[in-house]
Amino acid sequence: MRVILFGPPGSGKGTQGELIQKKYGFPKISTGDLLRQEVTAGTPLGRKAAAQMRKGGLVKDELVVEMMKERISKDDCRLGYILDGFPRNIYQAQELEDADGQRKEIVIDIQLPEKIIVERLLARRVCPECESIFNLLLNKPEREGICDHCGTELIRRDDDTREIIEESLKVYHQQTEPLVGYYREKNTYRRVDGSGDVQAVFGQIYALLETERVNHSEKEVRK
Ligand code: AMP
Repeated sequence: MRVILFGPPGSGKGTQGELIQKKYGFPKISTGDLLRQEVTAGTPLGRKAAAQMRKGGLVKDELVVEMMKERISKDDCRLGYILDGFPRNIYQAQELEDADGQRKEIVIDIQLPEKIIVERLLARRVCPECESIFNLLLNKPEREGICDHCGTELIRRDDDTREIIEESLKVYHQQTEPLVGYYREKNTYRRVDGSGDVQAVFGQIYALLETERVNHSEKEVRK
């Protein structure tokens, strides 16, 4: 099973990905997290990616696609994986299809009005150590400013500024949104309302995943 979390920046893909990972045990793979690790480590890939990331633009396809292919070929992805932030354009979607086209897939579009997105992203805090995501409006840490999971001091992401958020939303509409048509055609596209609280959104996602699972096992039985 491959779960593709889709939707604009700030729609809750990372948070929902963490909950799906906890429930089903599939690893959540965030290309943004992988790229940020490369930038922090100062690797050649990180140096190439940094300028686009600072602006809210997309990192070059060949760099991201290579990184993703390597990650999904690892053993922990054998039974399934969750993608957060990939694919971000049609080319990347086709590359994913070429690399792992046989896998059962569900694309979950988390829909959210634009004015809420900016508010939410400005309130986002992340753990630099274990990459857990919190939100001062929706999903507060138990102790102010401290990660619930590993006790590290939470930070605001460098790209969570109004200017960069607006640029990344523009990029989303131009390059990523056309994927809705692509996945509709494949019949793997589903949508949920992302405006409720974390558990309410997860409830909708869980219902979709369970329906897929039941349908899939029924098909297997009929074979
Ligand atoms: P995210 O954490 O998903 O918001 O991603 C942060 C930044 O990483 C984005 O603004 C892009 O610059 C870059 N990035 C993440 N995923 C991709 C991707 N699939 N293709 C190109 N750039 C990406």
